[in-house]
Amino acid sequence: MTLINETLNETHEPALRSWVAYANAAGNDFPIQNLPFAVFRRKGTLEAFRGGVAIGDQILDLAAAAATDVFSGEAAPAVHAGAHDKLNDLMALGPPSWRALRRALSRALREGAAEQAALAACLVPQSEAEYGVPARIGDYTDFYTSVHHATNIGRQFRPDNPLLPNYKWVPIGYHGRASSIGVSGQRFHRPMGQTLPPGATQPVFGPSKRLDIELELGIFVGSGNALGESVPMAQAENHVFGLCLLNDWSARDIQAWEYQPLGPFLSKNFATTISPWIVTLEALAPYRVPFTRPEGDPQPLPYLDSETNRQQGSLDIELQVGLLTPQMRDAGQGDATICRTSYRHAYWTVAQMVTHHTVNGCNLQPGDLLGSGTLSGPTLDQAGALIELTTGGKHPLLLPNGENRTYLQDGDAVVIRGWCEKAGAARIGFGQCLGTVLPVRA
Ligand code: CA
Repeated sequence: MTLINETLNETHEPALRSWVAYANAAGNDFPIQNLPFAVFRRKGTLEAFRGGVAIGDQILDLAAAAATDVFSGEAAPAVHAGAHDKLNDLMALGPPSWRALRRALSRALREGAAEQAALAACLVPQSEAEYGVPARIGDYTDFYTSVHHATNIGRQFRPDNPLLPNYKWVPIGYHGRASSIGVSGQRFHRPMGQTLPPGATQPVFGPSKRLDIELELGIFVGSGNALGESVPMAQAENHVFGLCLLNDWSARDIQAWEYQPLGPFLSKNFATTISPWIVTLEALAPYRVPFTRPEGDPQPLPYLDSETNRQQGSLDIELQVGLLTPQMRDAGQGDATICRTSYRHAYWTVAQMVTHHTVNGCNLQPGDLLGSGTLSGPTLDQAGALIELTTGGKHPLLLPNGENRTYLQDGDAVVIRGWCEKAGAARIGFGQCLGTVLPVRA
């Protein structure tokens, strides 16, 4: 099997332009070099959800495209699989089909393509669309791959022992909950739960007072592995369909009381929001960077190591978190940026997460979701959670309109954005991942 990270190809060519005019606009997230996947339908209708590909400000409707005779060869079954109401069947096809589909889409959407006549009728404006969770997510595992986040959090929960001794050896994770994962636009009620007030000896029950965000990336598994078979590093990325933005909403006061000894439970599984668009690993190829370990840190054990991973296992994805309070919304203001960082700071790579997850024979399935864990960078303004940005609520954030925040208040909305940009490559983006906190359910 060809490795999908092997080389750049014609689909990454920065000079490519699309006959969809907005795809050529500077700063737009969805140029022809991106081609991410979502499931969508027209807003306010009972149409069936189906797969779509973002191009500029439009969506290429894969169900409509499948009904034309535009796609042939290996791309044809991939278009048909992508036309379903969830992307699992497309994810299951594997890298040769994903590559063939990407190449065919790239050629058909280029300026001057003969396919324009047939495909122009298959476009739906993004402004008229609503999105669904892109896959039937059988299992959701959340990792903990930022050593900066692990250290910052550990310092608050265990001042004498911030980073546990396994951290630099094991890609730490826990089994999350798939049923409460929603797509951008998700609105959820502030969770209730048990918390132990400072100095108290018995818990109280009530609304979480320390509702937080976690800036993460989601990794969608493509083709799975059989139960009992592990996936070696050399094959790991062949099992990855693509990446999305992810907000792992977290109730810190519930978490602090419940997390020992088995880890987070009700503090995390009331809501998780992902972006509708999944950017494929192939689209991200120009933004690969070396995976390195700080001087003095242990190198990964051999089963988590490979030459390819060392040379290009990390991804330079710019990430930003914005906060929009009700007062800002009422004043017609945009969200305030509270964090800027990059995925390149992660301590473990996508390939290492897949290989570690399967090393005991655990089977991953098409559509499974892996969370990266909070992607805090090395400095405090690069922290991806309020518990870090405010040092456990001790130092409130001052917002541009004069408001303060420690943790989230009712009505607050959080938007995560992600993009990749560098000289010599097309800028590509992830769109956004938006979620809003509602008051406790009456
Ligand atoms: Ca998390």
